[in-house]
Amino acid sequence: QHLSFRGRRALVTGAGKGIGRAVAVALGRAGARVTALSRTAADLESLARECPGIETLCVDLADWEAVEAALGAAGPFELVVNNAAVAELQPFLQVTRSALQRSLDVNFGAVLHVSQIVARQMIAQGVPGAIVNVSSQASKRALRDHAVYCSTKSALDMLSKVMAMELGPHKIRVNTVNPTVVMTDMGRINWSDPQKSAAMINRIPLGKFAEVDDVVNSILFLLSDKSAMTTGSSLMIDGGFLVS
Ligand code: NDP
Repeated sequence: QHLSFRGRRALVTGAGKGIGRAVAVALGRAGARVTALSRTAADLESLARECPGIETLCVDLADWEAVEAALGAAGPFELVVNNAAVAELQPFLQVTRSALQRSLDVNFGAVLHVSQIVARQMIAQGVPGAIVNVSSQASKRALRDHAVYCSTKSALDMLSKVMAMELGPHKIRVNTVNPTVVMTDMGRINWSDPQKSAAMINRIPLGKFAEVDDVVNSILFLLSDKSAMTTGSSLMIDGGFLVS
């Protein structure tokens, strides 16, 4: 039986490409009224052509005021997927201030900020909600050249737990999904080197990277009432990487 989100209002960030785009399309097909937020207008235009009826917001999530203005007028939402992130891999000794700042702003600060805005709206409207934050296996394991990325995702996992604790009494659930490598644009930029990817796949008991659909399915599950008693948890989509 397929999940139905008929009539539910959903916000997906980073919906222009990759996992976020696939989540927005899947939610739309399952009946949700989707608002897709991303940074590149052309991506949102092509998404709107692919999914007529979808609403789009073109905003840089690092711009606190712009996010406030865009979302203040858009809500309320019952379902939120904080998916946007950047992965600027650098050896620890070469980490730059700009990569650090940008990663903290987008991968961590924007999730806090977007969630504050939508959770306040949910509480004001008295609607129950579900928030899924897209984290990574990198939140739980040290990966070479990932000092900043691993740390922002680790912070995101903990933020999600505290949000779950404080928002639970308002019937708002908060969970994370933590995928292994997925061959989106982000995955291709960082994992196309065959030696590097083979070394990672060798550490994954299921012997492969995740597909976009693996991540979409887990996100939809955590947004749905099928996970009604689950909050504050991190769902690994890592083919067993963490236990290997
Ligand atoms: P992509 O880079 O393919 O897509 C990311 C999307 O987020 C793009 O549409 C991008 O827009 C948007 N985005 C990035 N920064 C901003 C910003 N400042 N404001 C608004 N939108 C922004 O990434 P994936 O689909 O691969 O990743 C999605 C999520 O999954 C991320 O949280 C990532 O960390 C996580 N993840 C990915 C893995 C992988 O291997 N791919 C593995 C584990 C987790 P634009 O292109 O216009 O900047």
